[in-house]
Amino acid sequence: MALQKEGAVFDNYVNGQWIPSVSNDRITSVNPANVNEVVGYTQKSTMEDLDQAVTSAKHARTSWRKLAGAERGEFLYKVASVMETRADEIAETMTKEMGKTLPEAKGETARGIAILKYFAGEGMRKVGDVIPSTDKDALMLTTRAPLGVVGVITPWNFPVAIPIWKVAPALIYGNTVVLKPAREGAVTAVKVIECFHEAGLPAGVVNLVTGSGSVIGQGIIDHKDIQGITFTGSNEIGKQIGQGALARGIKYQLEMGGKNPVIVTNDADLDLAVEATITGGLRSTGQKCTATSRVIVQSDIYDAFKTKLVSKIKGLKIGDGMQEGTWMGPSVNESQYRTVLSYIEKGKEEGATLVCGGEKIEDERLRNGYFLQPTVFEHVTSSMTIAQEEIFGPVLALMKVDSLEEAIRIANDVDYGLSASIFTTNIQKMLNFIEDMDAGLVRINAETAGVELQVPFGGMKQSSSHSREQGEAAKEFFTSIKTVFIKG
Ligand code: NAP
Ligand code: MG
Repeated sequence: MALQKEGAVFDNYVNGQWIPSVSNDRITSVNPANVNEVVGYTQKSTMEDLDQAVTSAKHARTSWRKLAGAERGEFLYKVASVMETRADEIAETMTKEMGKTLPEAKGETARGIAILKYFAGEGMRKVGDVIPSTDKDALMLTTRAPLGVVGVITPWNFPVAIPIWKVAPALIYGNTVVLKPAREGAVTAVKVIECFHEAGLPAGVVNLVTGSGSVIGQGIIDHKDIQGITFTGSNEIGKQIGQGALARGIKYQLEMGGKNPVIVTNDADLDLAVEATITGGLRSTGQKCTATSRVIVQSDIYDAFKTKLVSKIKGLKIGDGMQEGTWMGPSVNESQYRTVLSYIEKGKEEGATLVCGGEKIEDERLRNGYFLQPTVFEHVTSSMTIAQEEIFGPVLALMKVDSLEEAIRIANDVDYGLSASIFTTNIQKMLNFIEDMDAGLVRINAETAGVELQVPFGGMKQSSSHSREQGEAAKEFFTSIKTVFIKG
């Protein structure tokens, strides 16, 4: 491959060393706001590279597990403090590599640091219970054991927070890790792992192997020395991973897509609902698993809501996320950009009415990036493709309903169940929504996107493997319970 001049080359991280792939081949990471800008080159790794990483994680396993939880926690605190010193650089890399605006990237990096600190503290918290034995002379209790080597496969849309919210709990509970980040977030992931290196983690505890999903992702599924796989990404790939892990009899965890609704009732605070629909639906260019994509509005306030929504959306500043004042950046790559445009065409074909947007942005300064207009459809019915499939772009579908019952029925009428929100000032409506909405995350008077690190996160229905991540839930995946019976 002929390498262009600009852009640094980033190696894999194996057994505490930065080393190139045996393939001598690389993956080019470009800036979706300007495809002429190379952000960097990462290794196009092979099975041999992966095998070395897994072997090093396997060798590091016993000594890492035998440290006190507090000692493992000290390492995570150090990673957090290294990352604090490099936060701006990491956020800028993220913006250039996958397009979200710099303030969002800074927010995500700060969140990554907070996650590291949270899980560092977990090293000193309880791991089990004492349960009375029927034998009065015995002590019976539970403790937890790590799984061993954990394979971590992550998407590009939160290239700092997601790797950290998987790697940090894996480590604190005594596992060692091989991370395969998404190609479109690989340079950012290298910078995150550099922080682990600078913090002085023992060799082999964390390994990073970049490359394509079909080679390195599949290799993680198949590798005999990997005892657990944690994945975030699309449903299509998630299902393959689940089947592969099941066939090998290892533990797995899948966090996948969403088709998240917001319900706006006729007693809602309209300004709040409009604001939250816009940020929930269009921040990060709609590329969040928790992004709002269906907006279900009661008929009495429908027109007023629509007018406010559209006028605000028309005022959003679209552009390069590195530039101050940019509200929304580009789609992550050409394939995602074309997918969004094809969903927009499908919406029109199937009879939805375009209210605003629907096109690529015609602006000389943005011609080298994947920029789309924020798009709103109305007269959308539940049977339409744009009301059922995850678009992962800046597209909102308005649906008009007469009652809350109808709104919740439509909100539940999809295969996904990740997050959902309602705007209402009526407590009974809030209670009905909490009870009847099939989603892992239900939010009242707040946007659908928005996850705090100290609570469980995950979806119902097709959105997850019914496990949860983060907060106390993390230890359910990253450990096995051991029941202990002691008699003197
Ligand atoms: P994706 O295409 O499924 O990719 C996710 C990861 O899997 C990437 O590292 C990818 O590698 C890898 N992969 C691809 N093919 C594979 C295979 N055959 N075997 C093993 N691994 C393979 O997802 P994405 O496009 O990066 O991310 C967008 C999706 O993630 C959306 O559906 C979104 O809803 C979901 N998501 C969910 C959550 C959540 O917590 N529920 C959070 C964020 C995003 P490559 O880099 O080579 O493609
Ligand atoms: Mg992908």
